[in-house]
Amino acid sequence: MEPIIITIDGYSSCGKSTLARQLANELNYVFIDSGAMYRAITLYFLRHHIDWNDPVAVKDALSEITLEFQYNGQTGQSDMFLNDEDVEMLIRDMLVSEHVSEVSAIREVREFAVAQQQKMGSRKGIVMDGRDIGTTVFPDAELKIFVTADPQVRVERRFKELYAKNPGITLEEVKTNLEMRDYIDSNREFSPLRRAGDAVILDNSNMTREEQLKVALKWSREKIAASQTA
Ligand code: C5P
Repeated sequence: MEPIIITIDGYSSCGKSTLARQLANELNYVFIDSGAMYRAITLYFLRHHIDWNDPVAVKDALSEITLEFQYNGQTGQSDMFLNDEDVEMLIRDMLVSEHVSEVSAIREVREFAVAQQQKMGSRKGIVMDGRDIGTTVFPDAELKIFVTADPQVRVERRFKELYAKNPGITLEEVKTNLEMRDYIDSNREFSPLRRAGDAVILDNSNMTREEQLKVALKWSREKIAASQTA
């Protein structure tokens, strides 16, 4: 079977990564969380006090960054490595979430990440989730899914997830962060978050994880079958 490329885009906390990971597992494809790459770059910028409004400082900093996904045998998932350090937990921190959209709006940062993402997909057989995967990274992907969910549902889901790690967090903080990221991601100049014209919409507001996986698997199998005869 010839493998295909599946892209999953959408607003923050729509469950894109969960769906992408499950889909990749079922299809024996590689799952790539492109947001983790932008988060790792942001972590590096914060740690090294990089002034991201200065293009020269950004360019220099990017030349010092190596990003890699490595399989974690304990969790059965891939962790994000920044310059050989496992930063999977650190990049989920609220401080990173507060700055990641600003950092990922920078042209040089996008060019850096997109080039690596395209390389990762060069042999197909991947499910990549993000904001611009179906529009900019893989405009010719065989299957593009645009995930949406009711904003209140998204805030509650994200709050539950974060509260488990940080009981000090408030619903209001989570809501403000999601709204801010969605706004910046949708309104930035380079590669804004948009639904690709040929993407199918999956509204999972009232769906369980199993239900959304079932729908996405059906679409995937149809596209895989179609691409064999194409
Ligand atoms: O997917 P996640 O919420 O972890 O992504 C974090 C942030 O990274 C997003 O809010 C967005 O600013 C940025 N991002 C992006 N393009 C992608 C993936 C993520 O700009 N393809």
